[in-house]
Amino acid sequence: MPASDSGYIGRFAPTPSGHLHFGSLLAALASYLDARNAGGHWLLRIEDLDTPRNLPGADQHILHTLDAYGLHWDGPVVWQSRRLEHYHALLEDWLRRDLAFYCNCSRQDLKDFAGVYPGTCRQRRLPADSSHAIRVRVDDRLISVADRLQPPLVVCLSADPGDFVVRRRDSIIAYQLAVVADDVAQGITDIVRGADLLDSTPRQLWLYQLLDAPAPRYLHIPLLLQRDGDKLSKRLGSAPIDPDQAPATLFRALHTLAQQPPAELARAPVSEQLDWAIAHWQPRRLPGAPQFNQVYPAGS
Ligand code: GLU
Repeated sequence: MPASDSGYIGRFAPTPSGHLHFGSLLAALASYLDARNAGGHWLLRIEDLDTPRNLPGADQHILHTLDAYGLHWDGPVVWQSRRLEHYHALLEDWLRRDLAFYCNCSRQDLKDFAGVYPGTCRQRRLPADSSHAIRVRVDDRLISVADRLQPPLVVCLSADPGDFVVRRRDSIIAYQLAVVADDVAQGITDIVRGADLLDSTPRQLWLYQLLDAPAPRYLHIPLLLQRDGDKLSKRLGSAPIDPDQAPATLFRALHTLAQQPPAELARAPVSEQLDWAIAHWQPRRLPGAPQFNQVYPAGS
């Protein structure tokens, strides 16, 4: 794939634990519009490492639905399950350089620490064991997250969550490691995704530092919430969006992202709606969301 003229490379990175629902369509659409508006590339990566959570056929449904909505990606799709060697090589390197360590603490051992790792195995130098977790060491430096929409966030990882897991006790590579390894390998310059992942961003910035790689720009879009405050994807996790209703649903998604599409676009083919939306993309219109409980405008 030739480099994009603008230098912008974005991506959508769904987990195939369910079908594409309206909340994930919003993340896909926002990242697509941001990339295309910037004259950039938009890549697709299937984050299928958490094998017990993968729903059979969900990856194909996601590809088919994106296609039906006119959200065409550049280059080949990347499946994380085919990149295990790469993640293991990174882990080996970090272990060798003492940037990471084995940890055999159980859930029970950690239950009294409110999600903050107490450092139990930090100095124990446990030998390699595939049934141990692997954690990266953090220190008390402050990590600042700059986001194009959200207020600045400054976090001290040693205070919370402490040394964090990059390979789980069941040997599955943790999301934090895989997402950063791949964003670096794919040269991603801009990440546009749901604000539920804001919380993960400081850990990911830490891993960028370990990899000596430049951090991307971030835009975390507010989550679509149900009235009772549940994230849509949890409540309607099993309600896939219908590829046959693409024009109407895409129009609703543009409206929900507060892009103010003209009414006459409502029945236009998706390609026409997207052409308009790329030309008029205004991330500033997204409802600002200092917290995760932002509710979109009425009627969305
Ligand atoms: N795979 C993650 C998810 O579906 C998103 C990863 C990301 O955008 O960083 O929630």
